[in-house]
Amino acid sequence: MSLDKSTSNCNDSLTPSAAARTIAAPAIDLTGRDIAYFSMEIALSPALPTYSGGLGMLAGDTLRSAADTGAPMVAVSLAHRRGYFRQKLDATGQQSEADVPWTPETTLPFAGECVTINMQGRDIKVCAWRFDVVGVSGHIIPVFLLDTDIDGNDPFDRRLTDHLYGGDTYYRLCQETVLGIAGTKLLHKLGCLPAVYHMNEGHAALLSLALLEDRLASGASLFTATEADRLAVAKQCVFTTHTPVPAGHDMFGKDQMYAVLGNERGSALERFGCMHNNLLNMTYVALRFSRWVNGVAMQHGKVSQEMFPDYHVESVTNGVHAATWVAPPLQRLFDDEMPRWRHDNQYFRSVYGIKPSRIANAHRVGKHKLIEAIAARTGIALNESVLTLGFARRVATYKRASLLLEDPKRLAKIAKKIGGLQIVFAGKAHPADTEGKRLIKEVFDLAGKIGQSGSLRIVYLENYDWELGAILTQGVDVWVNTPRRPYEASGTSGMKAALNGVPSLSILDGWWIEGCAEDVTGWAIDDGDTDAAEAASLYDKLEQRIAPLYSRPNAWARMQQHCIAMNGSFFNTDRMLGQYFANAYFPQAPVTQQNANAEALADAAVLA
Ligand SMILES: *Cc1c(COP(=O)(O)O)cnc(C)c1O
Repeated sequence: MSLDKSTSNCNDSLTPSAAARTIAAPAIDLTGRDIAYFSMEIALSPALPTYSGGLGMLAGDTLRSAADTGAPMVAVSLAHRRGYFRQKLDATGQQSEADVPWTPETTLPFAGECVTINMQGRDIKVCAWRFDVVGVSGHIIPVFLLDTDIDGNDPFDRRLTDHLYGGDTYYRLCQETVLGIAGTKLLHKLGCLPAVYHMNEGHAALLSLALLEDRLASGASLFTATEADRLAVAKQCVFTTHTPVPAGHDMFGKDQMYAVLGNERGSALERFGCMHNNLLNMTYVALRFSRWVNGVAMQHGKVSQEMFPDYHVESVTNGVHAATWVAPPLQRLFDDEMPRWRHDNQYFRSVYGIKPSRIANAHRVGKHKLIEAIAARTGIALNESVLTLGFARRVATYKRASLLLEDPKRLAKIAKKIGGLQIVFAGKAHPADTEGKRLIKEVFDLAGKIGQSGSLRIVYLENYDWELGAILTQGVDVWVNTPRRPYEASGTSGMKAALNGVPSLSILDGWWIEGCAEDVTGWAIDDGDTDAAEAASLYDKLEQRIAPLYSRPNAWARMQQHCIAMNGSFFNTDRMLGQYFANAYFPQAPVTQQNANAEALADAAVLA
């Protein structure tokens, strides 16, 4: 499957060949690279285990759009030599995890420089590998993947860039120190002096300390940093927060903070208001050191504003990189009809000029591939002409994977009445999330009990990742999402589905508040006081609206067309990145009150 041509410089296999051992880095001029994008995870290629889920996918899609649109960006992340994890499910649905090792030194060119920083009271050397994201016209976004597995480093420190979201909080704080502080110093050493630092989630917030240190006269201690210095750093930074779920906001004990960061940095963080409830809170670090803060959908911006009333929170709704997620048969159709869509996603609106039956035919190829992939992976043969629902996401309690199976009897009855129903599940639980793992087993059990024969078929696919995400969103008929409000910050898998002509059936939360036109681009599950009430609404929509429409192929094809023309043309990272440029990076509109105050103070301080 050709998922993404912008990753063509990467070995397709994780097993490197000896021939790849000395990889030359073509020279790249980093002057004028005005925006530095920092993210703990970035999905760069289906072959690289440098991401876990939505956050990393969004980061990768953002950079792919930056490459396509010629944006002056660079990015920084960690190498994650052992990846997130590969999910195994046994016959009972019990999840186990395996490392996904890779060797950057045989896969990517050396970035050219290393830096040494002090943390945990000792020096640690940090080097980097360069992954080039190549855009549709050849523009390159270099991504620097930091690596601490260097001769001479302490054995513990050598493992710090191994596991994405691995280890304990101490390990994570060390990782975030490497990302923020070593990442910033490395960029500077490479001759890159960005005007804007974008913290993609709080994991990257310690970059502010590196900028603060940079501002002080060489050798001056952080003890001398003033409020004016904080504001001057904030002037350079923008921050995107990604979840209202408390567990998504990293917090560290004071002891840990001082043990990892030392006295100067620790006391600076305390002095500049980065502690919350006596814990170092990475969200507050980011809030204190940014001039712009945003949530990832309009509703999420409002929810975040209530969570952080002392700060001004804006919204930029997420998107997905169209050329990465549109299925090959649809890509060919778009290439025929509107070849500039790869340079300018606004052309998706002109899908209204394409005959709906051609879209439906292209989608049928994707469904065929999905049915084939399920047979190859599980031995289960689904039926290509039966209505097929997809539900795949990180298994977290608020996502309520089992809502679709809340009333198995009613579901079976509907399946029988409408001439068959197929449901495809996938999703990983974080290795330490026992409740998430229990949820997977619960879905497994129910699937075994009610979804094995007759008119209702249910399958759970192992190891939800980039490749499976593409197969699913390109192949199912309806994409289902059932989060508990208001915890879905945005969600992006439904956007991938929409670009492939797949309507959503979802709770009105996150992006779907903006994307749902009832009976046109999909359906809303009505709010209820209980899970049972919301499940009942889901079943009603399935029985009374979705199945009848699915039995009318022409009407269904028109709906597929609406999904692409209305939602594909908006919920893409080209549009999203344009909004970041216009509102966050180089705002043309008047600054907000918070920003105005910050800028006035910083200016006054500079004059003083
Ligand atoms: C798109 C994607 C996600 C994020 O989708 P959500 O709608 O936020 O759940 C997560 N994992 C993979 C593998 C994806 O492709």
